[in-house]
Amino acid sequence: MSNIVAIVGRPNVGKSTFFNRLIEKRQAIMDNMPGVTRDRHYGYAEWCGKFFTVIDTGGYVTGSEDKFESEIRKQVKLAIDEAAAVIFMVDCRDGLTGFDKDFANLLRASKKPIFVAANKADTPDKTILASEFYALGLDGEVFPVSAENGSGTGELLDELVKIF
Ligand code: GDP
Ligand code: MG
Repeated sequence: MSNIVAIVGRPNVGKSTFFNRLIEKRQAIMDNMPGVTRDRHYGYAEWCGKFFTVIDTGGYVTGSEDKFESEIRKQVKLAIDEAAAVIFMVDCRDGLTGFDKDFANLLRASKKPIFVAANKADTPDKTILASEFYALGLDGEVFPVSAENGSGTGELLDELVKIF
């Protein structure tokens, strides 16, 4: 089994922010050096002595709904084919959207472990909004997280690394 974790979800939910938080600091610093590409999509992460590779997906989505549909399929296919586990990111502030449901329906078929990260839970009043995403009907917990301030990420990672 690979040790790849794919972060999927619709645009602007915070996938890249979360990815940058997960990957080793040294890589993030390297990316900020002049002349070094900023659109890194693979990174190495470590939690509790477990090492894994993280993929940040969905960097190219712009424009029409058709393109968006095919981007969803691309992300899900990659997640199904390559990843040992999937972090499915949604946005507490926006709440549950139709695109989240589409994603969930495709992911469900993958049989891979899926960790729902309800992002932008920066404060307790936002954290309680995360329970809405149980309506997606995916197995396991919904983890309220803040990619911005780091809250909740430890709880998610504790569960995630159990699969390795
Ligand atoms: P992506 O399109 O899913 O990769 O999303 P990005 O990581 O580019 O983030 C989209 C926007 O959401 C940016 O303006 C981020 O600063 C913001 N964002 C990401 N994570 C958080 C978070 O935990 N809390 C808040 N308040 N904003 C966030
Ligand atoms: Mg991104």
